[in-house]
Amino acid sequence: MKLLLLGPNGQVGWELQRALAPVAHVLAADRKSVSLPGDLEFPDALSATLRSLQPDVIVNAAAYTAVDAAETDIARARLINAAAPGILAAHAAASASLLIHYSTDYVFDGSGTQAWREGDHTGPLNVYGASKLEGEHLIRSSGCRHLIFRTSWVYANRGENFLRTMLRLATERERLSVVDDQHGAPTSAELIADVTAHVLRVVTQDPRLEGTYHLVAAGVTNWHHYARHAIDEARRCGHPVRVADEAIVPCSSADFPTAARRPRNSRLATDKLRDVFGLTLPSWQQGVTRTVRELCSK
Ligand code: NDP
Repeated sequence: MKLLLLGPNGQVGWELQRALAPVAHVLAADRKSVSLPGDLEFPDALSATLRSLQPDVIVNAAAYTAVDAAETDIARARLINAAAPGILAAHAAASASLLIHYSTDYVFDGSGTQAWREGDHTGPLNVYGASKLEGEHLIRSSGCRHLIFRTSWVYANRGENFLRTMLRLATERERLSVVDDQHGAPTSAELIADVTAHVLRVVTQDPRLEGTYHLVAAGVTNWHHYARHAIDEARRCGHPVRVADEAIVPCSSADFPTAARRPRNSRLATDKLRDVFGLTLPSWQQGVTRTVRELCSK
């Protein structure tokens, strides 16, 4: 099985390189590839890559993920998060290949306290969320074989993420204010990649199981509790933490104005994924603890 991986150096893409290696022949195309152009901003070059490679599976881990910057960089966010997936989907539809794509909790408006299900009404609050939703629509309307995994609060032991930022700030500052009115599940790039590999193997045998799935770690938290959990673990590992636990204080989103509005309720229900594929999703604490230990041993 020949698999084209786009965005191989991002948090999820990096883990996909590892997790997909035993399942398929992985060919990675990033923005800098000369032999295999993988820049989502250049549709012609992207189409040429697809035509020359004729992959059985296209995995798109590339995205415009700068949520606040997207508010003023709308055309680029839409080009990368919507138009490019549309091109991938058109190629997949024409060649009967499978497209695996990632989306976000930000397609929802964050109202209520119930976990969002795959079929629930969407209503993005920001440009990033709207561009990701448009990408989803283009994939579905193309009629191509697809898997769309909606995930949230992604972290890894590399790249830009909240977890790494908190561990750094914990060594620099004596006091930290962290928002406590947004709820969701921190999800490791490792988990996303491992589940992707498992699901890919299953749908290869049974394409009827393709579709949209929510994929997040089990449990719910807010950014403040998440930060305390991570910093506590770092302290235990002997990391040079400066901030005391009681100096990590909760605050509201209103105290931290950002260019893009964030949903308060980012809970995603994973029953469908667990039931269809017989998966157990580990708690968010398990993944965060493991990654903090890895980071502290570096
Ligand atoms: P990262 O920001 O870690 O990585 C994004 C990747 O996209 C990078 O490798 C980057 O390339 C690549 N990229 C950006 N622009 C282009 C372009 N024009 N052409 C080709 N590649 C490009 O993202 P994650 O791994 O965290 O995200 C994976 C998926 O999960 C995305 O679809 C994202 O929307 C979704 N998601 C992420 C969340 C998060 O918290 N991060 C939350 C919910 C969903 P380069 O390495 O060259 O910069």
